[in-house]
Amino acid sequence: MGIVSVNQSLADRPQCPYCQSSKVIKYGHANGKQRFYCHECGKTYLYSTGTLTANSHFSRSIWADFIHDTLVGASLDFSAEKFGFSHQTAFNMRHKVLMALQDMLEKEPVLLSGIAELDETFVLDCYKGKTVPTEANRTARKHGATAAKRGISNEYIAICTGIQRDGKAIAETVNRAKPSGKELYEIFGTHICEETLILTDGLRSYNSLGAATGCTVMDVNHEENKKLFNLNTVNSMHSYIKETYNHYRGVATKYLNRYNALFSIAFRCAGGLATSLFLSLCNIGNSCYWHGVYDVRNYRLVIL
Ligand SMILES: [Zn+2]
Repeated sequence: MGIVSVNQSLADRPQCPYCQSSKVIKYGHANGKQRFYCHECGKTYLYSTGTLTANSHFSRSIWADFIHDTLVGASLDFSAEKFGFSHQTAFNMRHKVLMALQDMLEKEPVLLSGIAELDETFVLDCYKGKTVPTEANRTARKHGATAAKRGISNEYIAICTGIQRDGKAIAETVNRAKPSGKELYEIFGTHICEETLILTDGLRSYNSLGAATGCTVMDVNHEENKKLFNLNTVNSMHSYIKETYNHYRGVATKYLNRYNALFSIAFRCAGGLATSLFLSLCNIGNSCYWHGVYDVRNYRLVIL
């Protein structure tokens, strides 16, 4: 028995994933799995149709365990060995989970309001097995090595984060350097309510974000504001991101926004998360969280 009770919410006859009709009947089996037939649109489907686990040979409980591993920052090699998968299989499963999380954030976008802390954190770039792009302006770094230069050099990729006290969070990468006002607007523009109080460390770019979104921007390092406001919540999110990022061991930069989706969701609700995420991603409904291997290689890459 896994950590997650995976069958608790399986409906006897789930509604049709194509047309959401409930006029459905059980319709024999396909490869040992219960099949259903929709009287409304005439299509057949399985419990897994349109979910994260569609077309997978692995059971729901294996997926549930795998999602749990992903959330706690297990490396792919760890999961591959534990389940007896090849590294490539574990990689594909990991990325199917991450892409589904991105889809989920797109379907239910985060909207910051009230008081929100906005800041950036930096992680070392990573071009595993690939030529380092000329913009990075350096030769390949050995695994586990630190940056050649000190401070925020070109070797770091920025993760822009915004978070409310209750944990509702956004994390996204658009570039390597400190973000410009335009880049901040790209990330937060549609995810921040008017009149939100934005707390920052004084980086100028946030002022133009404030002007563009109708929000007030407050520099917490300013003498007057120091006593009342701080960036504690966003700082603890940054610690969480760095720790988890290092656990994964060598996240290639092009996949960073997939992991950012995980960071923003996972930091929000640590407890019971694996179960609720599994149920959201793997239960039939009116959304599609399935991605194929083509997507694993090409979907939503960060190209810098
Ligand atoms: Zn239907």
